[in-house]
Amino acid sequence: MRSLQFDNRFVRELPGDPEPSPHVRQVHGACYSRVMPTPVREPRLIAWSPEMASALGFDEADVRSPEFAQVFGGNALLPGMEPYAACYGGHQFGNWAGQLGDGRAITLGEAVNAKGERYELQLKGAGKTPYSRTADGRAVLRSSIREFLCSEAMHHLGIPTTRALCIVGTGEDVIRDMFYDGHPRAEPGAVVCRVAPSFIRFGNFEIFSARGDEQLLAQLVDFTIARDFPELGGTTETRRTEWFHTVCERTARLMAEWMRVGFVHGVMNTDNMSILGLTIDYGPYGWIDNFDPDWTPNTTDASGRRYRFGNQPGIGQWNLWQLGNALYPAFGSVEPLQEGLDRYAVVYARERERTLAGKLGLTMFHEGDSELVDTLHTLLARAEVDMTIFFRGLADVDLQQPSIEPVREAFYNEALLERESAAFADWLARYAARALQDGVPPELRRERMNAANPCYVLRNYLAQEAIDAAEQGDNALILELLDVMRRPYEDQPGRERFAAKRPDWARQRAGCSMLSCSS
Ligand code: AMP
Ligand code: MG
Repeated sequence: MRSLQFDNRFVRELPGDPEPSPHVRQVHGACYSRVMPTPVREPRLIAWSPEMASALGFDEADVRSPEFAQVFGGNALLPGMEPYAACYGGHQFGNWAGQLGDGRAITLGEAVNAKGERYELQLKGAGKTPYSRTADGRAVLRSSIREFLCSEAMHHLGIPTTRALCIVGTGEDVIRDMFYDGHPRAEPGAVVCRVAPSFIRFGNFEIFSARGDEQLLAQLVDFTIARDFPELGGTTETRRTEWFHTVCERTARLMAEWMRVGFVHGVMNTDNMSILGLTIDYGPYGWIDNFDPDWTPNTTDASGRRYRFGNQPGIGQWNLWQLGNALYPAFGSVEPLQEGLDRYAVVYARERERTLAGKLGLTMFHEGDSELVDTLHTLLARAEVDMTIFFRGLADVDLQQPSIEPVREAFYNEALLERESAAFADWLARYAARALQDGVPPELRRERMNAANPCYVLRNYLAQEAIDAAEQGDNALILELLDVMRRPYEDQPGRERFAAKRPDWARQRAGCSMLSCSS
């Protein structure tokens, strides 16, 4: 473990805050503040990702060593680590919020593995930093389990995301008022080590622009391009233009992927948008059970539903628009920025069609297919049909003799099934006729659809069951879920329960359908 190499370019190449104390403050003229994790009482490894450990060159003995829990609980450093918290701002729920920054995340360093891949290691919940504002710098076990499991599940779904190496329990309690309703309680604390090539967010650029620090803005832009987009070449001007276009394209692709699998981020503030186009900051996220474009898991957003499922692609573009505004001083003209935003719309439309074609098992998306899709979405919402189970089952519909049988399981409500069955029969007949036009052999069609429609997603209630058990000291379900989510597109005999509909008890339960930002 001690042989892991670090190459800490962020702190080496960018200006830091000269003030060494962790007291809360506005930090000017700096991209980060050096800060040590606050040690915890009793660091204990709860779970780890074997894939991520092996990418970093850790074997099982490393992971199980007491030193591992010490390092990833925040009590010790490996040689070469240089901890810091980054300064960023952001638009929260549509309004400029000023300086935010890593209030409880501390980057330990940029590890470079034997293959030359760069992995920033960041502890979430590691204690106070200059950016903690009025909060405690800590994270609770429940939200740490949710972040750990979901980032690994997303990775295995093939969706760009930050990763997670491990969860370490701290042996300390954290006080949280889960629904901000005057009922605080003590909860077990934990630290997640998350991993990504870069944790730079849109908000890292916005803060310097908002403060009129154009020099630092340009420096951060060129640093980001050099470190994280080394494939871009040409003059400074063409590189910056290409870069913004690439960020727009990646964000568009990410939105289409979230829509494909029914993921709702829940807090798409610009400080939660990765410049690499990764899913980042797993908070009150959720997965669509019954198809509903208006659903949001985030109770903090319940009134405006800004970040509801169906609104995500539009918010992606709104966030890029804020980024484009912030970047203007580094571009000096609006054209390259406007082109990027236009590119977003084009790429999103293309990716949406591609993913929809995959979900329906069509070779290509044609003009008239939009109507077929819109009708289906209306029906799925009206009849309360489970999105994941429906699309998975659709692959088993016999195009020669379409019937509702293979998707019957996806209905939550018998009465609605009854009421809508004729409409579904009609849709299935039209769908079958359309799919037959492609002339794809049935086995190939099924294979394609099963590669686009996961069987297993991290349903909100499944994560909650793992949390309930872990809070009682039993981590087995975390490990089992991690293992199930490793092969989300394969039927896993014996594990049908993890592909089942949301049970009734989970419909209105905290943690299952209702989550807040309190974590
Ligand atoms: P989030 O809603 O988790 O994306 O966080 C928004 C901002 O609040 C970021 O600057 C976080 O670092 C900060 N923050 C969230 N929770 C805490 C906490 N427990 N302690 C300190 N800062 C926090
Ligand atoms: Mg955040």
